[in-house]
Amino acid sequence: MLFSEQTPASDRNGINSGFPQGTSHTLREILEANRAYAENFGDKARLIGAPRRRMAILTCMDARMDPAKFSGLNEGDAHVIRNAGGRASDDAIRSLVVSCKLMGTTDWFVIHHSGCGMQSYTDDEIRHLLGLDTDEHPEGSKWHDVKKSAQTPADIHWLTFSDLVQSIVDDVKRIRQHPLVPPSVAICGYIYHIHHGMLEPVPEANRIGAPQMEPA
Ligand SMILES: [Zn+2]
Repeated sequence: MLFSEQTPASDRNGINSGFPQGTSHTLREILEANRAYAENFGDKARLIGAPRRRMAILTCMDARMDPAKFSGLNEGDAHVIRNAGGRASDDAIRSLVVSCKLMGTTDWFVIHHSGCGMQSYTDDEIRHLLGLDTDEHPEGSKWHDVKKSAQTPADIHWLTFSDLVQSIVDDVKRIRQHPLVPPSVAICGYIYHIHHGMLEPVPEANRIGAPQMEPA
């Protein structure tokens, strides 16, 4: 059961729930859900670390997307690497290389989506917003908790993009050309549509990401 506004105050305060007093509502919801999950853990302790379906997905952290649900994954099936935009950053590629070299994945999917927040800004706009104080942010801006920092990280690559298809093509190409990525790995590019949940292939990305030799 999840805690709600109807939950007795004694439970909300952690008196009867077993949680320390002062535990936040959000944290209690997570811990309650986790308790229920663990009670129905089944035989998942037998799973091994290497993904059973030998696949990895690189996609956006957008809360509207659940890769396990939209691609039919269960625990143990695949690696899922998420960041803002689902971009092939250095760290995403680090994870993909580990996924292949240490865990034996052979098929990778780069999935960006319609309505992505990283398509709403440019890198320069983000740097500008980071340099504003709370009372200076533009009217109607979605920018939250703006606080000017003397250490604004202007040199971070925010990996925003303006063209959805091109961003997928660029990322598949970047992964394909990385010297640590085996040519036998198949890299596919897809758009996830947030309005109907379908995956749409990106032919140019799939051409670039096609495996260049038969897997051993
Ligand atoms: Zn996104």
